[in-house]
Amino acid sequence: MPELPEVETIRRELEPLIRGKTFARPILHISSTVEYPTPEEFTAGLEGRTVSALTRRGKYLFINLDQGILTVHLRMTGNLVYSEAGRPREERFLRASLPFMDNTALHYFDMRRFGRLWLVIDENELNRLVLKRVGPDIFNEVSCEDFLAMLDQRRPSKLKALLLDQGFASGMGNIYTDECLFRCGLHPERRVSSLKHAEAEELYRAIQDVLADGIRYGGTTFRDYRNASGALGEFQSKLDVYGRRNETCRCGTAIEKKVVAGRGTYYCPRCQK
Ligand SMILES: [Zn+2]
Repeated sequence: MPELPEVETIRRELEPLIRGKTFARPILHISSTVEYPTPEEFTAGLEGRTVSALTRRGKYLFINLDQGILTVHLRMTGNLVYSEAGRPREERFLRASLPFMDNTALHYFDMRRFGRLWLVIDENELNRLVLKRVGPDIFNEVSCEDFLAMLDQRRPSKLKALLLDQGFASGMGNIYTDECLFRCGLHPERRVSSLKHAEAEELYRAIQDVLADGIRYGGTTFRDYRNASGALGEFQSKLDVYGRRNETCRCGTAIEKKVVAGRGTYYCPRCQK
């Protein structure tokens, strides 16, 4: 599932490719891909609009237009792929084609169909309709001081559940949460209330570091994620615990997996306290 580093990778790759381009009429192969407004309003509203910038909060990607904001959430298996020619190389799982006037295009693919597109008129509408329960971006909008204050409001929470909660702060998913908790030596079931000040600061640092590394390596590729040009990320080869059940941690102990906060969670029972 794409998390913050994967969405940021797509943003960085796409922005220079599509900034300044004007959309032609979109084609919705699966109309339920559009969450808001109606499919007819979406296609009519996007046609003729020019891309000014690409921004992001958590796992949401915003394609800012001269009028309005095209918003994308990839959820489980969504992919946004830029194509030089109007047609994609492969059409399996193609849900929407968003061509530009110059015959290039953005194609939205999604095997599981949970991803969504929105076309909103401005930031107010975006906040009201899409981001109402989405917390600040953990990588760009939360200082260490903010983070410590935010933790204070959530003292009963287990760390794993807290970091996955997009209302607390947005961007972390299952992979980067497990990796950052390993890096700072904290057990996924530790409660916020039990953290010493230094541990909370180390947690913040580990989050920032693991996300920066994820972005540096172009994200993590398992089954379905491709970056905007269709290439694979490389962070999967840097993972310390995620997906490594029964493999040996650098301390010599076998990595374990258990369900925490409803999600399969990987950790080292010796390194993480
Ligand atoms: Zn270990």
